[in-house]
Amino acid sequence: MTFHSMWAELLPIGRSSASGGYRRYAWTAADADCRAWFREQAEARGLTYEVDRNGNQWAWLGDPAAGDAVVTGSHLDSVPDGGAFDGPLGVVSSFAALDELRARRAEFTKPLALVNFGDEEGARFGLACVGSRLTAGQLTVAQAHRLTDGEGVTLPQAMEAAGYDPDAIGPDPERLSRIGAFVELHVEQGRALDLSGDQVGLASAIWPHGRWRFDFRGEANHAGTTRLEDRRDPMLPYAETVLAARREARLAGAVATFGKISVEPNGVNAIPSLVRGWLDSRAADQALLDTVVDGVERAARDHAAAHGIDLDVVRESFTPVVEFDHALRDELARILGKDSGARLTVPVLGTGAGHDAGILSDRIPTAMLFVRNPTGVSHSPAEFAAEDDCVAGVRALADVLEGLACR
Ligand SMILES: [Zn+2]
Repeated sequence: MTFHSMWAELLPIGRSSASGGYRRYAWTAADADCRAWFREQAEARGLTYEVDRNGNQWAWLGDPAAGDAVVTGSHLDSVPDGGAFDGPLGVVSSFAALDELRARRAEFTKPLALVNFGDEEGARFGLACVGSRLTAGQLTVAQAHRLTDGEGVTLPQAMEAAGYDPDAIGPDPERLSRIGAFVELHVEQGRALDLSGDQVGLASAIWPHGRWRFDFRGEANHAGTTRLEDRRDPMLPYAETVLAARREARLAGAVATFGKISVEPNGVNAIPSLVRGWLDSRAADQALLDTVVDGVERAARDHAAAHGIDLDVVRESFTPVVEFDHALRDELARILGKDSGARLTVPVLGTGAGHDAGILSDRIPTAMLFVRNPTGVSHSPAEFAAEDDCVAGVRALADVLEGLACR
């Protein structure tokens, strides 16, 4: 099985003919087809196939009980109308990298496992990385049992319908204790590699990110009869705050987005009484993120005061920075740079997106490889990586696995 033929097999599964995008949601028929494909690939290679208590699929070469295993993989599920690469590229590359190592006659001194984590995107139950969160104990069984999809089906019901035992789910510290390193290959969800002209990069960290709600309160009134001087219009400071977010993010090299807004009374001919906007902001480190959000909030307060508007700012969610293991990252950089001298030749980049590798990183050493995405587009049918770059990713992953598991 070449990379190309594996890719071709997966391509039609869960693809919407209307949008061209993928709808591979956890514990659905499309997900089952992807999982059957994973199992076939594992068995065709003589690997020991197993499903853990949380429904994650594993394919082992060597004895898991020996410990210090090197694990690679990603996920096969998708966001609504997602692209073909986010997730599957990492899983297909794992099998292809193993094939490459066997062709090289590499001798493994550690167990190797390939993994497909379940329900990474959270498209169905609204929470990302359910499979890895449960394994790492970051999601309690009680919380998982309460997860419900848009049709009112709970996670336990969905797992049971797909043939899995929902009563078995829970933390899996023993499994994690057998893993020495986890490496996830992923399509880049940005244009850093395209801009630097590199095919493959290493992850430094997942940016800290959060959501803040801005409530601007003024006074509803008639849009036709209220003199401009007499208005207390919360839309005005809101608009200025959107511009301030753009400015602060640009100055800090960060991102800040007002992507959702709710307006009361929401009438075409009414001055609003309330404008509520949600800010999503992410930056390379905590200090930069604080600078951006403080700057946006200060601007919002100044503009609100100037227009006689009351303002409340509430932080609704926050995820701190995830720093990938420095020793493992340096090791990967050394392995990948071995042909070009001591100088680090593989670009190291941060990302604003979450991954299973990020969830596992506080329990085991984890690292990520990114493959160039020429447009940076992700979570869309337009998501793309050139076959040359995918093959370079497979080679890099094989080098990394050889360096880590064949010493
Ligand atoms: Zn992904």
